[in-house]
Amino acid sequence: MDIPVVENVLKLNDEVAALNRQQLRERHILTLDLMGSAGCGKTALLEATLRRLGDKLHIAVIAGDLTTTRDAQRLAALCPRVVQINTGRSCHLDANQVRQALARLDLNALDLLVIENVGNLICPVGFDLGQDFKVAMFAVSEGDDKPAKHPYMVTEAAALVLNKTDLLPHVPFKMDQFRADVAYLHPRVPLLTVSALRGEIEPWLDWLLAARKKP
Ligand code: MG
Ligand code: ZN
Repeated sequence: MDIPVVENVLKLNDEVAALNRQQLRERHILTLDLMGSAGCGKTALLEATLRRLGDKLHIAVIAGDLTTTRDAQRLAALCPRVVQINTGRSCHLDANQVRQALARLDLNALDLLVIENVGNLICPVGFDLGQDFKVAMFAVSEGDDKPAKHPYMVTEAAALVLNKTDLLPHVPFKMDQFRADVAYLHPRVPLLTVSALRGEIEPWLDWLLAARKKP
């Protein structure tokens, strides 16, 4: 009889997520749930984004990790509005944790909120946080098979970031295979190739600025 319990947890999560979404949409804050494995470069992408857009937009970041405030410390050097959520043993963020983090931010002056999810390709996909869009992130160092092996990351994403393109000459990564698998799973999803470490993130910035006009 475990299944009804799981359903209730997800139902409660969806109710809290709806409250988050209402609160954020009322204030016209574009909210993204950035999902990707540990080490794919989520924090590096946010650092590069803050360097490029930090003086144009009011940006806040909610950073999820099991433990430590290392990501939050990196981001706080570039952004005054950073909240860390330590999830303990939990491998994803839920809407209630995000709700508590929202209470720590001044939402009245915000343009963009990015929620950096826990590094994990599986359950973050299933939890609505109240975001406008889920963004899936992979890195070429993870291999070209990740979309095929983690299809829900792709099908649920409004955009797909492929990071560490500077490593392409050094790793076995078939771009044609990667593109074909993504296109099969989610034909129209934008594929944004970047090198966060080098600050080469134009496709991501273009998508982000266009997404601000949509919700
Ligand atoms: Mg991180
Ligand atoms: Zn999880």
